[in-house]
Amino acid sequence: MKTSTFRIVPLPTEVAERARRAVKAGAADHAVVIADSPTSYPCRHCLRFARPGERMILFPYAAIPPGHAYSESGPIFVHADACERYSATREYPHELRNGRAFRAYNARYDMIDAEVANGSEPEAIVEKLLQNPETTFVDARSVTRGCFTFRVQRA
Ligand SMILES: [Zn+2]
Repeated sequence: MKTSTFRIVPLPTEVAERARRAVKAGAADHAVVIADSPTSYPCRHCLRFARPGERMILFPYAAIPPGHAYSESGPIFVHADACERYSATREYPHELRNGRAFRAYNARYDMIDAEVANGSEPEAIVEKLLQNPETTFVDARSVTRGCFTFRVQRA
């Protein structure tokens, strides 16, 4: 197996923990939902789909921070109970091989390219986007709902 040129960046644990505290404090923009499908609730912290019946927190996350032309905040899920942050960061997350679009951004958070994995290997798309020296990071998003899923940087 060849060494990957990328590094998966899951949601920071502190962001997941902050969401769990916000739910306990009754924050109006943090909802607890029960997963009712095995492939609809990807946790951005462990990068696994919730199993039906698991409690998930739905809350807005600014994947592209305020103050930029491409600033964007949108809904993401994390497990309501503690989970282990995805650690196989040199491997593309197995459960998220399908249904992702990839957006390349430069150092000023400008979106400079984007591709959908239409049957091709997601690793190949990520590596191609990172080959552009202007690309600082690539964001994987849901191709259907557009929600931020995880970030990819150079290894
Ligand atoms: Zn999780």
